[in-house]
Amino acid sequence: MSQIEESPLQSPISVLKGAGKEAETSLAGIGVFTVSDLMEFVPARYEDRRLKSPEDAAHDEKVTIEGTIQTEPSVMYYGKKKSRLTFKLLSGPHLIQVTFFNQPYLKKKAAVGDTVTVTGKWDRHRLAVSGQLLEAGPYRRGADFEAVYLLRNAIPLKQFRKLVQQAIDLYGSLIEETLPESLMRQYRLMPRKDAIRALHFPESQEEMKQARRRFVYEEFFYFQLKMQALRKTIREQSGGISQKYDLAKLKALIDSLPFELTKAQKKAVNDICADMKSPYRMNRLLQGDVGSGKTAVATLALYASVTAGFQGALMVPTEILAEQHAKSLHDMLEPFGINTALLTGTVKGKKRRALLEALERGDIDILIGTHALIQEDVVFHKLGLVITDEQHRFGVNQRRVLRTKGENPDVLFMTATPIPRTLAITVFGEMDVSIINEMPAGRKAIETYWAKEEMLGRVLDFTEKELQKGRQAYVICPLIEESEKLDFQNALDVHAQLSSHFHGKFTVGLMHGRLSGDEKEAVMKSFSANEINILVSTTVVEVGVNVPNATVMIIYDAERFGLSQLHQLRGRVGRGSEQSYCMLIADPKSETGKERMMAMTETNDGFVLSEKDLELRGPGDFFGRKQSGLPEFKMADMVHDYRALETAREDAKTLIDSPAFWHDPEYRHLRAVLTDSGVLDGEKLD
Ligand code: ADP
Ligand code: MG
Repeated sequence: MSQIEESPLQSPISVLKGAGKEAETSLAGIGVFTVSDLMEFVPARYEDRRLKSPEDAAHDEKVTIEGTIQTEPSVMYYGKKKSRLTFKLLSGPHLIQVTFFNQPYLKKKAAVGDTVTVTGKWDRHRLAVSGQLLEAGPYRRGADFEAVYLLRNAIPLKQFRKLVQQAIDLYGSLIEETLPESLMRQYRLMPRKDAIRALHFPESQEEMKQARRRFVYEEFFYFQLKMQALRKTIREQSGGISQKYDLAKLKALIDSLPFELTKAQKKAVNDICADMKSPYRMNRLLQGDVGSGKTAVATLALYASVTAGFQGALMVPTEILAEQHAKSLHDMLEPFGINTALLTGTVKGKKRRALLEALERGDIDILIGTHALIQEDVVFHKLGLVITDEQHRFGVNQRRVLRTKGENPDVLFMTATPIPRTLAITVFGEMDVSIINEMPAGRKAIETYWAKEEMLGRVLDFTEKELQKGRQAYVICPLIEESEKLDFQNALDVHAQLSSHFHGKFTVGLMHGRLSGDEKEAVMKSFSANEINILVSTTVVEVGVNVPNATVMIIYDAERFGLSQLHQLRGRVGRGSEQSYCMLIADPKSETGKERMMAMTETNDGFVLSEKDLELRGPGDFFGRKQSGLPEFKMADMVHDYRALETAREDAKTLIDSPAFWHDPEYRHLRAVLTDSGVLDGEKLD
């Protein structure tokens, strides 16, 4: 049920003169049904029709010039329907030859002595203009920029412009303001009415800019308003649980750690614990670079939940990771009497049944696993906290399924892929965010080098020196798009090569996606125990694996990886106290490829790299796959308009949190928008 009243702006375009059945059908094809659709149709670009003196124009550039006609315009016919209209035009000191092809009727508009304005292509060598547009009279001020629309041949551009003009003339006065007055005033935004006109018929570049600024803010503000309303709904109306954890016990666990938590870790633990204790539901994202200590934070949170009498779950994207996490959580928590268990796809039959029963009885405190955790028959006794690691690898739906397990458990998402701030507040706009932006003390920055393939020998010599010191190395094989088979073959080749190179000196292991869970575990175990000195691997090793003695990371064909992935891979080393090295073997052909390699050698900061990645790839490609959940904006650009995005977010948040928003008549329209989009009735977004 819509609460937004029908306005004449919602009339079908057929109310306009010149919009017949045919136009109506064609325009429906590009999403234009109503007068308001027409007025909100965003121009793809503007034609610059500012008057230009020919000497300022480049050859072949489009120019608009004004002048008086010096010679009798004459039409010459040739071929079947072809014609040429020519005359000489005096523009300033220049006598210019003007030619119009196949528009003989223009002769009526042109006579000797007339002042006219001509737009066309400038030929610098012949001092000639190949005309496209002829207008009687001197140049008309206020027509400097002409909107051009992407109409996909629906109707002719000229007709479209006329319809827009008519719509604005007849209905423009009915356009209502959609932004709160206080914000309009604060940012000096152009009123919607004026902005719509300026969008289509700007009188100056400044006006064009101001109209755009208004619409960009409006788009972001509305988007953020929905996000913030959703955040509030998830928090307050979904009946969260208040987890009264045992602070003394939590402190005892923290004291038992072999290290002091960093300031950022402490802050994150505090954020999370406050969320858990509150009657609201936690919906938080924990971002931190590889090795910044997120898992430690997660473990503390899970333990806190158990001390409050609940169960916890930790979901990770791969089996290897699940196994590693299960082991480290077990080691850390067993002395405190906590039962942990591992559930992955390889846990089957009797073992699985027994595990599920124990879980339902409440005998298991913390369950760690892959997405096997979200299968229907996995039933918890009393689930209090769900943590998912490497969050953006899970689809939006998986995010939601997890949220629905148990009685509205608190939810924490973790990601080690630093996401640029602008993307984070867009894609995860409905969440609270904690950021771990400092590394544990004593970590040395990983030294990164970029080498061409012919330098591989030197890279291996260097590696050998490290191995002689007792360290270990990873070698990551080229990734071949969409061909698991070739990935696998590559790994075999590299493994064979290195085995013979280091024959009799060091052992070379092999890890790839075709190994079974047991085999992978055996390989990882040997590598952890330094029985394998060099581990050749496909990217399965990418996430979370922890072998502190490894100090060398070699990445073959590094140009095939994105910056974020390279950074992830590099994060496998530098986990101990020794100096670590990363060697990128790459021969990038493209400029951006080179820039990526340079960026890697220049910084170890994942957040800096993520911003760079976004800059090089653009928001659409940043997450690689389609499931990114990025919203589409008509005018706004998340990267370039990020300041407006942040401002709009703050404004939306403040407004949603203010009591006035929920009853003041001033915000009636905004509330109606939220109801209409379903945000206020629950989770219908995304
Ligand atoms: P992440 O999950 O963010 O990649 P981890 O929690 O796995 O990071 O931590 C990486 C390594 O650093 C682990 O060996 C962990 O024990 C250790 N670690 C975590 N926090 C600290 C800290 N505050 N000081 C020293 N070492 C830490
Ligand atoms: Mg809670």
